[in-house]
Amino acid sequence: MSKRKKRTIRYEVADDIQTRFTDIVRTLNLRHIDLEKVVCVRSFGSSTKRIIARCHGMSKVLQIAMKIEAFYALEFISERFDKLSDKEQEETIIHELMHIPKNFGGGFRHHGHVSAENVKLMHERYQNAKKDKI
Ligand SMILES: [Zn+2]
Repeated sequence: MSKRKKRTIRYEVADDIQTRFTDIVRTLNLRHIDLEKVVCVRSFGSSTKRIIARCHGMSKVLQIAMKIEAFYALEFISERFDKLSDKEQEETIIHELMHIPKNFGGGFRHHGHVSAENVKLMHERYQNAKKDKI
């Protein structure tokens, strides 16, 4: 065993976030997102100071090697995400799902598209669509 203290990161499938993610995808009618192939995960003990969440994709090489289609995991860092307001959490979920490209190919859309402004617009669309449903 090394003497250096090693941080252990723990991951848990986050059903509560998954429910909110699913509601956002359905309400905004984002048909390119395959709900069976995106899983929201909460992580604990991450040493990252600035990241609240991140989007994990899957390279084409792995997809071919493993003979599976693209899959995404949206990771939410508990120490940071769980402290946010409901609105900020929704915006964070929207931010991460906006990284998933239209072709659902395993890669990412970058921050030119996933900008604070576009996330805000998407969040407004979500709130308006929810109001219309009631
Ligand atoms: Zn991002």
